[in-house]
Amino acid sequence: MNSRVSLGAFPVLASALFFSACSSNAPTTSVTPAPPAVQERNWGYVANAETAGPSDWVSLPGNAACAAGKKQSPVDLATRAPFPVEAKDLPNLVFRYGTTKLHLVNKGHTVQADVEKGSTVEIDGAAWALLQLHFHAPSEHSLDGLHYPMEMHLVHAGPDGKPGLVVGVFLVQGGDNPAFTPLLSDLPKVKGARKDDSSVTVDLAKLLPENRAYLAYDGSLTTPPCTEGIRWYVLQSPMGITGEQLGAFVTVPGMNTTNRPVQPLAGRKVLLDTTP
Ligand SMILES: [Zn+2]
Repeated sequence: MNSRVSLGAFPVLASALFFSACSSNAPTTSVTPAPPAVQERNWGYVANAETAGPSDWVSLPGNAACAAGKKQSPVDLATRAPFPVEAKDLPNLVFRYGTTKLHLVNKGHTVQADVEKGSTVEIDGAAWALLQLHFHAPSEHSLDGLHYPMEMHLVHAGPDGKPGLVVGVFLVQGGDNPAFTPLLSDLPKVKGARKDDSSVTVDLAKLLPENRAYLAYDGSLTTPPCTEGIRWYVLQSPMGITGEQLGAFVTVPGMNTTNRPVQPLAGRKVLLDTTP
């Protein structure tokens, strides 16, 4: 709460300092520019003068849903009673994932792999096209109260081309999966930097665990503008990756804390798929 107060106060303080500095240099007729701290303030995971933390994302334009929404993500998931979970044999996710060349971009808040057209996931008679995948550390969702070291989000578009369905996969140290190596080694280190390599092929299906039983609920984007209407399918089985692969992401500046805190379920039911 203290950080929220000081964040709000900072632009006022900065304005006051700027004004007094100008006054001491008077006379002048030049246009007064806005203080840089106000212009450049962005969202992030840690609150400071330049960055609004998760509890303050709503203070930035267009982010009303981050605070007012009732179906926000991530949430704490659980497989056991008395959690509000409905366990049954649900339709399977049918992954029709192909391959893509490597297109990595450092977005400042994550490292994202843009995916070439052709990979889809099918559920309830509809096909959703895979747009991109990206990572968070630690995991955004928790499972039975525990956060995993990382979480991968596979973002799929609905018929309107906008994100509509996300598959979450927990990542944990304890495996050797070479399919992750191009995505989790020698990553672009600064915001906006890219790494495109047409000689590297990523086999997207190999990024998924064999057991695709999931937990499903209605949620939102976990980043501003926190848009709701996102169908979430979080796989119950984690994927094992190596310490080197884990380290490749968390050592990129700014990436070692890239999880929004869990949000209230607020009456939502979580569906637990009981069969792979
Ligand atoms: Zn994400």
